[in-house]
Amino acid sequence: MKYVELGKTGEKVPAIGFGTWKLGNEGIDAIKRSIELGANLIDTAEMYGNEAIVGRAIKGTNAFIATKVSPHHLHYEDVIKACNRSMQLLGIKQIDLYQIHWPNPAIPIKETMKAMEKLVDDGKIRYIGVSNFSLNELKEAQSAMSKYDIVSNQVEYNIMVRGIEDDLLPFCRKENITVIAYSPLARGEIFKEKKVYELLNELASKYGKSIAQISLNYLIAEGGVVAIPKASIIKHVEENVGAADFTISKEDMMKIRHFL
Ligand code: NAP
Repeated sequence: MKYVELGKTGEKVPAIGFGTWKLGNEGIDAIKRSIELGANLIDTAEMYGNEAIVGRAIKGTNAFIATKVSPHHLHYEDVIKACNRSMQLLGIKQIDLYQIHWPNPAIPIKETMKAMEKLVDDGKIRYIGVSNFSLNELKEAQSAMSKYDIVSNQVEYNIMVRGIEDDLLPFCRKENITVIAYSPLARGEIFKEKKVYELLNELASKYGKSIAQISLNYLIAEGGVVAIPKASIIKHVEENVGAADFTISKEDMMKIRHFL
């Protein structure tokens, strides 16, 4: 497994984690297998409605738990309550990474961040992250922090949706804010889109890897990025974990970048 420093925390997290959106009881074994293989950053959210299931899967493991507060819970007291609820559902005394799921322009970011910092002070969460924040929203959120750093921004990033490569990704790398790439397999679209499939298939044959492994490797290759594929099939979990252990040549990285 390849590791990435989470923000400037000194804490190492695996470059391949595991996303749990739409995962129910049938996903418990997949989560357990992912943790067993070292892809132990498990991402959920109060909005997913599955924190209790995730809690059952991670019990007694060394999972690194990332969950999220919903955008309609960003007033001070609501953040505190949402965090307590998530901890209870997950069956843990501390959340490793607590993320703001989406920005909410109707609620001052300063108020939300004050609550997030209080949660760190109270030992309920270890690190503060955001999700779906644009470059400007991220800068604004950063300046609303009084004691701690924003360690991560979770955004859509896959071989078919690469807009962050223009501005957000370079900024995050410069500022040491980890990008957590969601929908890293484009929700399965990479297997359906002809042009994408053909290029990935060619590279998969060349490297003796799968299409999913080529796609995930591309995202994490240059550092500062953690990809969190969702997989309910164990074979998929095992394949995804193996996406970190090889190197795509510079020429092939450029081929992907310019072709797609
Ligand atoms: P995704 O991970 O891009 O794709 C999931 C799909 O890919 C599933 O159908 C899965 O099938 C399939 N798959 C996984 N590994 C595969 C493999 N090795 N070979 C072939 N197919 C494979 O989609 P996602 O669930 O949208 O994104 C991942 C996670 O990102 C979510 O679960 C969630 O944690 C997070 N997310 C966050 C936000 C946000 O707003 N912050 C939004 C969307 C998603 P099986 O299930 O059959 O294995």
